[in-house]
Amino acid sequence: MKRLVVMVLLACSAPPPAATPITPPPTTTTQKKTKPMIVQAGHPVLRSRAHEVPPETIGTPDFQALIARMIQTMRDAPGVGLAAPQIGIPWRVIVLEDRAVAMSKLAPAEIAERGRVAFGPRVFVNPTLTPVGTEHATFFEGCLSVEGYTGLVPRALEVEVKGLDEHGAAQTWRVRGWPARILQHEVDHLDGALYVDRMLTRSFMTGDQARARYAGKPIQTVLSELGL
Ligand code: ZN
Repeated sequence: MKRLVVMVLLACSAPPPAATPITPPPTTTTQKKTKPMIVQAGHPVLRSRAHEVPPETIGTPDFQALIARMIQTMRDAPGVGLAAPQIGIPWRVIVLEDRAVAMSKLAPAEIAERGRVAFGPRVFVNPTLTPVGTEHATFFEGCLSVEGYTGLVPRALEVEVKGLDEHGAAQTWRVRGWPARILQHEVDHLDGALYVDRMLTRSFMTGDQARARYAGKPIQTVLSELGL
């Protein structure tokens, strides 16, 4: 699959954003120095509702530094999306980007089946997401905060997301396919949800198993082989 395939540890009861300093998360003892510092499942920041960002905060140097750090962390991981709680910051901010290099190991048919297109980076502050229509799609999804695993997740095929951009300007993005999946995954993070909450549980497996057994197979074949 592609890897969405997704510290200070700010307490869940952290004060509102205006009073919450943006500080670099400390290195954890279990983190390899060469890997980006990404909070792993089990930390309560991933299970809490993140705070709305006061719009006047967006233009501050600290907030701009946070956005830059999120984009760099996403690229270093590498991943196609990141939510602020994943670096221990309980604010409603997501970044996402899909680059041609990230799709280079996929066959054209796989890229087309997933609706992957290169875009970004995009930043959404205080996003709200609405599914469009009733079509759904199911694909393997992973998370930088659930390292090493993947599972099949049904998602709305098309969504509309509204929010502020990195300059504080209002923006709306209506999109289908893989960008819509990334948006749903990242906005879930802001509400304390992980893909494992939504996955088809029989499909949960390690990334290594997924690559070895299902890479390159059409999704209907994968579903059939898994008895789904
Ligand atoms: Zn994630």
